[in-house]
Amino acid sequence: MAINELTLRRASELRAVVDEYVDASTRALTARWAQAWQEIAQEWQDTIAVVLARKAAGEPLTPAQITNLARTQRALAMTAAKLQELAAEIGPLLEDSIREVVERTADLTTGVAASQMPPVDSKLLPSFTRVDQSALEQIIERSLGQIHASSLPLSDEAVDAMKSALIRAVPSGWGPAAAAAEMLKRTRSGFNGGLTRAMRLARTEMLDAHRAANRAQNMGNPAVTAVVWHAELSSRTCPSCVGKHGTEYPPDTPGPFDHQNGRCTFIPKTQSWADLGFPDIEEPPDLIQSSQDWIDQNPHDAVSALGPDRYRMLMDGDISLSDMAKRVDNPDWRPSYQATSLADLRKAAKT
Ligand SMILES: [Zn+2]
Repeated sequence: MAINELTLRRASELRAVVDEYVDASTRALTARWAQAWQEIAQEWQDTIAVVLARKAAGEPLTPAQITNLARTQRALAMTAAKLQELAAEIGPLLEDSIREVVERTADLTTGVAASQMPPVDSKLLPSFTRVDQSALEQIIERSLGQIHASSLPLSDEAVDAMKSALIRAVPSGWGPAAAAAEMLKRTRSGFNGGLTRAMRLARTEMLDAHRAANRAQNMGNPAVTAVVWHAELSSRTCPSCVGKHGTEYPPDTPGPFDHQNGRCTFIPKTQSWADLGFPDIEEPPDLIQSSQDWIDQNPHDAVSALGPDRYRMLMDGDISLSDMAKRVDNPDWRPSYQATSLADLRKAAKT
């Protein structure tokens, strides 16, 4: 029951481990994209030179004509092939990291729960066993399948963005060098749209695999009776996560379903010491700070996090912490909790 300093430290160590894998995958993807751009940059430079030369010669090139130039078609085909290659690499590039995240989450989650046991001979305590390897393999397979499916449309989107970048006019009056540089910058940014997507995919899948392993491990330990939604409370935490922090759920609850790029975790909470059979050992209270206490003790950070209007409504008792998070269902992704809009909060406050 008692979430103590060691519990919170282990939970944040686990979180740091996941972050390291996310960061490493971001670096690897960025390096691959930069290298791939080097391989096609000349082609685009040449294509842009052809477009600008024909315009300079007085040809009123329509967007369709630009797209249909042999040179453009060649650059687009080459880029599409390159992006398909990149998309196919994402899964293999992330596979080892996903595996490590899942394995290490299973190991470290056990430590988070075990830190809450009373100070008695460990033979008297429930054993904390690692979840079945087959359950972890399923989580890994599922993640890799998701990564594969979501990587496929990535090249089409980036090629479309590059095509629009090429046909969009540059301001008249620009010299050819400035126009060429601007057009190359725009096409590169279209190409890097694919990288942005790949990085988001890597991050989302790694976090979801981590959460699934965390859940499997908590469900496998009978001493775990609940999971607690934990947000890093700071001036930059969003209102939804402030509202959710500290709330408790059954151990088999998937999630936490925070928003994209969310950093929240479920911390396992174990049976009380009395329920474990040690009613005579005094159990310290949970150390997890409630959102309300945090807000009361850090008014400046709370105003930054919530915004002055939300903060005021909360202080005046017009809304409660739970009003600040709203479940949003998404057909392409899992449901997520997001900050309730001020307009909706004002409506809720009136009723
Ligand atoms: Zn948040």
